[in-house]
Amino acid sequence: MTSYAYRIDSRDTIVWCSESWDDFAVANEAPEACGEAILGHSVWRYFEGLETRHLYRMCFNRVRSGLGDIVLPFRCDGPTTIREMKLRISLCRNKLLQNTGTVIRETSHRLPQFLFQQTTRPERIMSICGWCKRVESGGVWFDIDDAARAWEAFNGDSQPAFSHGICPSCRKLVTRELSGSEA
Ligand SMILES: [Zn+2]
Repeated sequence: MTSYAYRIDSRDTIVWCSESWDDFAVANEAPEACGEAILGHSVWRYFEGLETRHLYRMCFNRVRSGLGDIVLPFRCDGPTTIREMKLRISLCRNKLLQNTGTVIRETSHRLPQFLFQQTTRPERIMSICGWCKRVESGGVWFDIDDAARAWEAFNGDSQPAFSHGICPSCRKLVTRELSGSEA
């Protein structure tokens, strides 16, 4: 299984990343995220959404306090790939925190380009879950693919703006993981 990893120090600065990281960045058509470019930067640059950041921070704190690894599912899609992944947050030597992403399943699939572009003129805000990438509309959370199709049908080429949050089922999952209930 493909996996990549990076480590952060006690100030949340990225200090190391695996060689596989670059392959991953290139596969995601995000060469600007290659190892050399991310080293020395705060990890918070790369997480969007206040609540997502808050939950990651709580996960990091928990692992740092020695309560054991945290494993969470998440989605990391590229422009032509749906990627179901697992994130393991663990403590390694020198008290560095290691985040290891492992690809569980990869499906070739072309998602609309606008999902990966920065919006210049947002027409409407869509809420997207930072963990499972589902999109909220009218209180219901849709698969990003269905949401994109519906958006295109109603809005044509205009681009939605995304606000990053967390859906109820992911919140439940993360909260359960944080409360440390043994599986
Ligand atoms: Zn979610």
